[in-house]
Amino acid sequence: MLHPPHIPSTLLKHPLLDQLKVELEVLRLDQVHPTVSGNKFFKLKYNLEEALKQNHRQVLTFGGAYSNHIYATAAAAKLAGLQSIGIIRGEVSDENNPTLRSAKDAGMVLKGISRELYRSKTHPEYLEQLRQELGEFYLIPEGGTNALAIQGTTEILSHAAAHFSHLATPIGTGGTFAGLANSILPQQELLGISALKGEGIQEEMKLLLQTHGIQPQGSVSIWTQYHHGGYAKWTSELIEFIHWFWESFGIPLDPIYTGKMAFACWDLLQKKYFNPGSRVLLIHTGGLQGNLGFTQRTGIELPSL
Ligand SMILES: *Cc1c(COP(=O)(O)O)cnc(C)c1O
Repeated sequence: MLHPPHIPSTLLKHPLLDQLKVELEVLRLDQVHPTVSGNKFFKLKYNLEEALKQNHRQVLTFGGAYSNHIYATAAAAKLAGLQSIGIIRGEVSDENNPTLRSAKDAGMVLKGISRELYRSKTHPEYLEQLRQELGEFYLIPEGGTNALAIQGTTEILSHAAAHFSHLATPIGTGGTFAGLANSILPQQELLGISALKGEGIQEEMKLLLQTHGIQPQGSVSIWTQYHHGGYAKWTSELIEFIHWFWESFGIPLDPIYTGKMAFACWDLLQKKYFNPGSRVLLIHTGGLQGNLGFTQRTGIELPSL
């Protein structure tokens, strides 16, 4: 149902890369599909197949008002011929929110709940209450990470050449990181750049890999100093970097995930973390739909295609 076409990648050209003899390439998951963009394409693929297999008519999921996951779930469910329901943290009344407007246009039923109630999103009683209210549904968790999502993200690297020494991805719930960790080769190193503040992610990722029986062939590391203030927070340094990246390479980034990941990799490059001869692949996980809403909220312009 969701068949990825050829996924393009962009080789970056810059004097510093020549000087350090490092190759930097970007795998453009942002271009994998016009509406189901980025890593969400891979995370949703097997979940929607499973929903159809179980004869569900609708899928339900949770997310914030600007969530890439909500946007992508709405689009992917529509393609699969499934009704989608989005339970949104906070108000859904803002008609100008481009994420929610697109989700609605794709046919998603939106239901806003209080931040307090939102914390019940995994409680069986609350889910039962939603089933009473909205009918039976296939549940996709917030952020979309589950075993089937990881089965999907494990396929990402089959779209990339095997010659890379390093791979880098942003981390939110870690479903993408886990799938990549599941598919790296013994000589490869996976760098996960946390979009969240705090060291808790280290334990969380260890547990996630353990839970899904993933023992990476290569080495993995998680970087926690590139959050720029925390989840969905930013610094002017990050915004300037995103503009610089766009002007230098013609690749748009988002400030929540891919901007932080690319910032981290460029910082590590400057600090000579990558030895001469290294070939580094940045996984552009998408998220560009969120740039519109970001500009609306903050007044800060961002590059977009
Ligand atoms: C959802 C998302 C992530 C985080 O993916 P996880 O699998 O939850 O870690 C990273 N980048 C973008 C653009 C996303 O939309």
